[in-house]
Formats: sequence, structure tokens, C-alpha cells
Amino acid sequence: MGEWSEYFEDFPEENPGNYVGGKFDPEGAKRVREAEGKRSAASAEITQMLANAWKAEKERSFVQVDECPQCGLEALNTYKIKDTFYLCECQDCGMYGQDVNIILSGHKLPSVTNINLCYLMH
Ligand SMILES: [Zn+2]
Repeated sequence: MGEWSEYFEDFPEENPGNYVGGKFDPEGAKRVREAEGKRSAASAEITQMLANAWKAEKERSFVQVDECPQCGLEALNTYKIKDTFYLCECQDCGMYGQDVNIILSGHKLPSVTNINLCYLMH
């Protein structure tokens, strides 16, 4: 523990963290901190739920794996989110792209950019 925490133990009224609405109220401040902790735990839980839902959606929508144009590894996953919406995401370097219109069959796009990274080979 650093010097400040020891100092604040001896002089709690000097600790800005013990004030609520400009009044010295260590108990109230503690309750506020606990409530904030619960709130951020709930928010982290929701974020995790959304991340899990998105992960499950991607697993359902997985189409194929291809060579990544950026890192060259066979790690570029393609997901079919909707009929006209594909998402590509490299599992290695993290490069990704999405496109709502470009659906190609049988050949790759000649030039690869972030936005037209997606293609579909039947
Ligand atoms: Zn890559």
C-alpha cells in the first residue's frame, strides 16, 4: 500500500473519495462505490452475453476458411450473416472485412481491400 492510503486511513476527512455531494460521508461514499461496482459488474455481464450471442451467431453462420490476404495464413474465416451480408475475419492477424453487396462465386476478387475482402467460392 502506498503512502496516500495510509495517510487517508489516519485522516479520512482528507480523502476526496469519502465525500458524497460535497459532504464528508465515508459510509455514503462506500455505498456509492458498492452500487457502482454492482452496476459495472452487471454491465460487464451484459457485454459478455452479447459477445457470446455474437460468437454463437458466427459459429452458426460459418461458411469456409481461406488464406488471409494480409498474413498469408489459412485462417480467414468467412461467415454468412445474411444472404447479402458476409463477414470475413482472420483468426490470426485479426484483419476483417464485410460487404453487403459483393457476392462472387467461383473466383476471388482481383484486388483485396478491407471493404471487398469478402468473397464466396461455391
Ligand atoms: Zn491474417
